[in-house]
Amino acid sequence: MSPATLLAHQAACRACHKCVGDGIIPEANPTFSGQWGAPFMLVGQAPGPTERVSRRPFDGRAGKELDRWMLRAGFAGAEDFRSLTYIAALMRCFPGRNATGTGDLRPPASAIANCAHWLDAELRILKPKVVIPVGQMAINRFLGPGSLEDRVGNRFGERPVIVPLPHPSGTSRWLNDSANRDRLAAALALIAVLRLQYASPRKKISALPRATGSLRGHSAHLSQRPMDKEKEA
Ligand code: SF4
Repeated sequence: MSPATLLAHQAACRACHKCVGDGIIPEANPTFSGQWGAPFMLVGQAPGPTERVSRRPFDGRAGKELDRWMLRAGFAGAEDFRSLTYIAALMRCFPGRNATGTGDLRPPASAIANCAHWLDAELRILKPKVVIPVGQMAINRFLGPGSLEDRVGNRFGERPVIVPLPHPSGTSRWLNDSANRDRLAAALALIAVLRLQYASPRKKISALPRATGSLRGHSAHLSQRPMDKEKEA
């Protein structure tokens, strides 16, 4: 595996129209970002309408909240976090708005299945040290069914370490509970420790050509088998 492998993979992914051909979505806009050597991989659910236009993952309101969380985790800023993190999603094209226009559609299982091989390949190519699944769907993808309360604030596995986060969307009420805010703080503290542990790859990344030029997107993946929980560090 090499930077060229990742670039070829990204070019192929950007050209993907599988779900359009299957009649799942009207247009394809594969959205992801990241570069060779990134020690972190963040996996979300699907891009929203803002990302559909910008093609930059987590570019909307939820992204701003995610940026604030990463500041709390010790990153110098949003770009520092993004330079060290490959950002992907279970479905990397915008799934559309719901019938009432009050929110985005959940990614359909058929689209997630179509898209899975892109994520799988990125996990093989990049071998991230840390995977951060964001939101229940992404967490389930890596750890199997379970409650957010049991996942957020803990770390799982070793290669990679998995540190689940809730979705930073303002529509989520999960963080209204102070106990859950404490779980989030614990998760960010875990990421802070891992950032210190893996900060050195930054030099390696900056010395390599960026995997995307104008593209500001994301992606990555692991085995489909849920991983066993390990003791919190
Ligand atoms: S959601 Fe994934 S599989 Fe479907 S068209 Fe977009 S990139 Fe391709």
